[in-house]
Amino acid sequence: MKLLITGGAGFIGSHFIRYMASRYPDYLLINIDALTYAGNLHNLIEVEQLPRYQFVKADIAAREQIEPLFAKGIDAVVNFAAESHVDRSIVQPDLFVRTNIMGTQVLLDLSKQYGVAKFVQISTDEVYGTLGDTGLFTETTPLAPNSPYSASKAGADLMVRAYHETFGLNSNITRCSNNYGPYQFPEKLIPLMIHNALEGKPLPVYGDGLNVRDWLYVEDHCQAIDLVLHHGQPGEVYNVGGSNERSNLEVVTAILAELGKPESLITYVTDRLGHDRRYGIDAGKIRAKLGWQPQYDYEKGLKKTIQWYLSQAGWMEQIMSGAYRHYNRLKYDKM
Ligand code: NAD
Repeated sequence: MKLLITGGAGFIGSHFIRYMASRYPDYLLINIDALTYAGNLHNLIEVEQLPRYQFVKADIAAREQIEPLFAKGIDAVVNFAAESHVDRSIVQPDLFVRTNIMGTQVLLDLSKQYGVAKFVQISTDEVYGTLGDTGLFTETTPLAPNSPYSASKAGADLMVRAYHETFGLNSNITRCSNNYGPYQFPEKLIPLMIHNALEGKPLPVYGDGLNVRDWLYVEDHCQAIDLVLHHGQPGEVYNVGGSNERSNLEVVTAILAELGKPESLITYVTDRLGHDRRYGIDAGKIRAKLGWQPQYDYEKGLKKTIQWYLSQAGWMEQIMSGAYRHYNRLKYDKM
């Protein structure tokens, strides 16, 4: 199997590459990543020497950069590459349209042209919009994205659907809830709060802190993607979530308690524009149809994650100092 993984230098993509490298020793894993601010080749140190792993710096929205890879033959594509941070999408929506929608369309079109056997689009529960106090998102919940980020992901999902319906491209879409774990860029809630708590800096919490997210340990998401890649039925959407709903405030206070830091560090800040109140996933379909079973208990997973950030202080430091960009250049220049 020649598997093209896009966005593999980011948080979830790098976990997925490690996961696949350990489980499928005969697969060739080709990682294409544009190395935006969120791409960090440090995340892939464990696999970079493997002969069956290749890295190519390329932009998914630039067809001329991507096409030579497809021309050499690709069996399957897993598309993680995206602009992924909601706050940035409020400041620069055009970039999200370019990468998330246009980039996905380039990958779909090349997959169609070169006869790729399977295309897996990594989407998000945010495409469904927001929930009230009750109810869960199912795969038939109407798309109602509220941020430029989620709107761009929904646009990509619809393009994936269109390539399946119009051209018969064998595709799946996964819609996962919030992931947490090692190697997450410290603009996202959990690593940002760990970092600030360790530095004794204020922990910024949006609004009243009661927005709810459904948390899933990143390796459980990787296992779900593996199942969808190998067993997903053509054209199907699969929701993925751990049934671990927590308010932002609950997440932040748990981090402070684990680190032995005072709750007085919590600082309420003006709410995010268009901030979705609650996400909750019904993952019954992937459990029943593909036998997916998450392995990580949320409380244990969070402790494990915090311990990782404590033991890998150098990883956080090279991001905060910007040194990872230099490392990316050094590694890339050698390739
Ligand atoms: P991330 O921001 O950590 O990584 C994104 C990666 O994509 C980076 O390495 C970046 O360099 C790369 N990239 C960006 N633009 C590119 C382009 N034009 N061409 C090639 N590469 C490009 O994101 P993540 O948290 O790992 O998320 C990965 C995917 O999973 C995204 O599609 C996201 O929408 C989805 N997702 C994330 C979560 C979550 O909680 N993090 C939950 C559900 C779904």
